[in-house]
Amino acid sequence: MIYLDSSATTQIDPAVLEAMLPFLRDYYANPSSAYAGGRTASRAVRSAREQVAALIGAAADEIVFTSGGTESINAVHASVRSLWPEKPDLVITGTEHAAGIECAKRWQEQGGKVFVAPVSPAGRVDLDALRGLVQPGSTALVSIMWANNETGAIAPMKEIIEIAHGAGALVHTDAVQAVGKIPVSMHAVPVDFLSLSGHKFHAPKGVGALYISRRARFAPFLVGGGQERERRSGTENVPGIVGLGTAAELARQHLEDGTKARLHAMRGRFEHLINAALPDTRIHGGLEHRLHTISSLCFPDTDAAGLLILLDKQGICASAGSACHSGTLHPSHVLEAMGVSARDAACTLRISFSRFNTKPEAEAAARAVIEAAQKMRAMQGDGELVAVS
Ligand code: PLP
Repeated sequence: MIYLDSSATTQIDPAVLEAMLPFLRDYYANPSSAYAGGRTASRAVRSAREQVAALIGAAADEIVFTSGGTESINAVHASVRSLWPEKPDLVITGTEHAAGIECAKRWQEQGGKVFVAPVSPAGRVDLDALRGLVQPGSTALVSIMWANNETGAIAPMKEIIEIAHGAGALVHTDAVQAVGKIPVSMHAVPVDFLSLSGHKFHAPKGVGALYISRRARFAPFLVGGGQERERRSGTENVPGIVGLGTAAELARQHLEDGTKARLHAMRGRFEHLINAALPDTRIHGGLEHRLHTISSLCFPDTDAAGLLILLDKQGICASAGSACHSGTLHPSHVLEAMGVSARDAACTLRISFSRFNTKPEAEAAARAVIEAAQKMRAMQGDGELVAVS
């Protein structure tokens, strides 16, 4: 099997699993308990909080553990909406993850107004349009993802913050795809809220974090026992949190050890091989400002669903659009917002790499993609898209 779907989820790093096992097997006490076992669990949670904070240049008390990206995003929208009822406006882009889009719908259902800033064909927000949409006195929140899960497009976060803060609005960023892959620092990029998710950088599923700046007010989404300093109630997922902390520590090391350059070269080789054999292939997300882990490729007139079936037969895991939408035939809303036609969106494959992939895997995958596209095209009779059974 060659796993090239790391934007959907990643494999757990063996070191992460090792760090978690004692907390599944032996140290199962509740971290709120006062006896020794509880104190061991509580210390582990504290240390994980420091590890996650260090990865994003935050203070430990600015990190709240959650069940993942979706919960963090929901918590921020709900909090801002409830604390600033006099400011009805939310500004997003059309390329947000489904969690961001659905939160915006709810914002609207609750009487707020949502403004969608346009993006360029490369998937970056139009800053002039954003400037026009963010209004002093009425915009409560600007929520724009740091890196896109389908194309890898990286947002101009500093400029977004300048515009939003200049108008007195708060900034949330869905950094689920950015954290662990590119430097993310709350000193350099002072957002008010940031969402991250463990399973996108080699921790398990079901654990994530919400960064809440010390400057920002926050009303909890989950209330109950008052864990996480009253910001997220519920008994802590200690093994998951330990895994997240370890994954954060490892990610911090890999940001500095040449992993990015290796993956960049690997992705470049993959795209080069494909472009050489199939010169009409188009890359979504632009060549600049793009995560080094994602290749979103359009093979004109070649049905991506069919390509995926052929690749699956070769043991290659990839996806068309985002995994959250797989199983449905809707064209990707991300590509649509970038001005890609529904037909081209249906011919788009997303390949996403992680540090566990090797160059031979990337080359084998490129050969398999080329072969699959050629096969699909040969099967096409009169130019209609055909499905492969
Ligand atoms: N935001 C982005 C950009 C994502 O890619 C994902 C996961 O697909 C999420 C949010 C949701 O995160 P989680 O799966 O942890 O709820």
